[in-house]
Amino acid sequence: MPAFTTSPEIARETIRRLAAARVAPTPDNYRAFYHQVAGVKEDDCFPAQSFKRIVATLPRNTPAQLRFARHFEHAIGQQKWGPLAKAIVELSESTQAQSLAWAPLFEQMLEQLERHHAELTHARKKDALKHVLHASGADAATLHSRLMGLVHSWSAAPNGHPAPLAPPPPPADTASDSPAVPPAAAEAAGLLAPELGADLNSFMHRGVSKLLADNPTLTTTLETLGNRLAADPPRNMLPTLQADITELTLKLEWAGEDQNGIRRALIALLQLVIENIAQLVVDDQWLTGQLSILQQAFAQPLDIRALDEVERRLRDVIDQQGRLKKELSDAQQRLKQMLAGFVDRLADMSRSAGSFHDTLEVCADRIETAVDISELSDVVEEMLRETRIVQEDARRSKDDLASLQQQVEMANSEIAKLQTELHNTSELVRHDPLTGILNRKGLDEALKREIARAQRRESPLCIGLLDIDNFKRINDTHGHHTGDAALQHLTEVVKDNLRPQDSVGRYGGEEFLILLPDTDVEHAVAALKRLQRALTNRYFLAEGQKMLITFSAGVARVAPDEAPEAAVDRADKAMYRAKRAGKNRVMMA
Ligand code: GH3
Ligand code: MG
Ligand code: MG
Repeated sequence: MPAFTTSPEIARETIRRLAAARVAPTPDNYRAFYHQVAGVKEDDCFPAQSFKRIVATLPRNTPAQLRFARHFEHAIGQQKWGPLAKAIVELSESTQAQSLAWAPLFEQMLEQLERHHAELTHARKKDALKHVLHASGADAATLHSRLMGLVHSWSAAPNGHPAPLAPPPPPADTASDSPAVPPAAAEAAGLLAPELGADLNSFMHRGVSKLLADNPTLTTTLETLGNRLAADPPRNMLPTLQADITELTLKLEWAGEDQNGIRRALIALLQLVIENIAQLVVDDQWLTGQLSILQQAFAQPLDIRALDEVERRLRDVIDQQGRLKKELSDAQQRLKQMLAGFVDRLADMSRSAGSFHDTLEVCADRIETAVDISELSDVVEEMLRETRIVQEDARRSKDDLASLQQQVEMANSEIAKLQTELHNTSELVRHDPLTGILNRKGLDEALKREIARAQRRESPLCIGLLDIDNFKRINDTHGHHTGDAALQHLTEVVKDNLRPQDSVGRYGGEEFLILLPDTDVEHAVAALKRLQRALTNRYFLAEGQKMLITFSAGVARVAPDEAPEAAVDRADKAMYRAKRAGKNRVMMA
């Protein structure tokens, strides 16, 4: 049999034999004849194409994965089983080595989680841990290395002292794919020098977070990022940045301290001014309401939502009080005019009484000097005429005075009413007087504001509409007063169980609307259910009797570009479904 050495020769001969043997040229038949012609065993065939397809799909995210893929590729290039087997065994061994290192990692993690750190609260540690878990994807080596970094940064933070600004120890990468790299080599490989990671950490802790004194959430995020950078320096960043960052950190630190100082001084000044005005206007009741709002606002950390609220409340109160002040001053003007008329009338009376007196004196003289009776009768006639005039005058004055007195009394009571109203407007017109929470008007505005905020931040906003179950029965059984107290009780429980950024308002009689920013619909439903549980735990006492108040609620996520009324309408429909389904439940719109 002639020896066929090259592939084309073998292929040609294979086809010839297939034809001679009248065998169908299927892939299996072709393969069998081919091996016969080439004189090799079928087992020895190296499926290079198939392996290349596998190599193309191998992950290359970590150094370990990259190294394995290269070994595998190289082995395929050689078309030899030996190197391929070696690469696979190596991979298996390194995976085993990795899995062995999880136990000490968890041990250290637990220890550091339980340890008390000066500036690292449990919540912040949890946040950082969550971040690493989410950001590391499914790759075990990356996750392991980042967790180790995190644990090291925690262990480097001393008790009772601020978080470390010095570089924490480099991350121990037990995947053994990145052994301690000397700085020069790290630079050459495009890795960030560990010192730069520490500098970035210091930049976040000392520099940027100082500027965010009123924003603890963002401060935590930045500091967590700083910890991560220190523990697990990112790649492909030029170490020349280091000097710039150090300088910037210092500048930011100073700027932050200056800003905080100015802010503190301004607030102190404002408080002083408000306090002084309050002392000066003890008699001006209507101003005290406005001042107490300002005092409350500046007594707590500045927050954009709180300041917004203060501005709206003040504007509202100022508008109302401006209107009432005008009415009050009109009423006072009218009263003044009336009193002026009263005084004029009195003067007229005394004038006419004076002239009567003069006439009487003249008459008395004429009587004394009279010589005949006819003269006397003239005098008597004049006296009668004068007396009638005076009587008429006195009667008219009496009527006028009575009507004046009535008008003054009316004006007085109007002024008293306006003054009470003026005082009451300080009790804020966007708020429900019974419960003190937002009323319908206040809610409409708050909802519009939250929708705009959610759109700006592209964050979810949910609303919950709740209606007390069988409330009419509470009123009918225990009276309206108890009904009112039940509404106040529910308000307190709701307020105590919501986050600071949530708002609640009285939408109608026994209906309440809750606004939940940055909340998806599942969490909003959970929040409403939490309120239901809180209500079952905190009984309402009606005439000394424990009474369980329940509510039905509908929850809707406000869709982008959805009108506020449309969202409330959807929540309302869901609430009615909850009622129809048997009450005391929460339904999603
Ligand atoms: P449902 O479970 O279907 O909601 O029944 P309900 O009895 O709660 O509802 P309904 O609408 O029949 O009754 C609501 C009652 O709430 C009627 C009204 O008198 C009472 N209400 C509304 N506002 C107030 C208020 O400010 N104080 C008091 N005490 N009762 C109020
Ligand atoms: Mg109702
Ligand atoms: Mg009801």
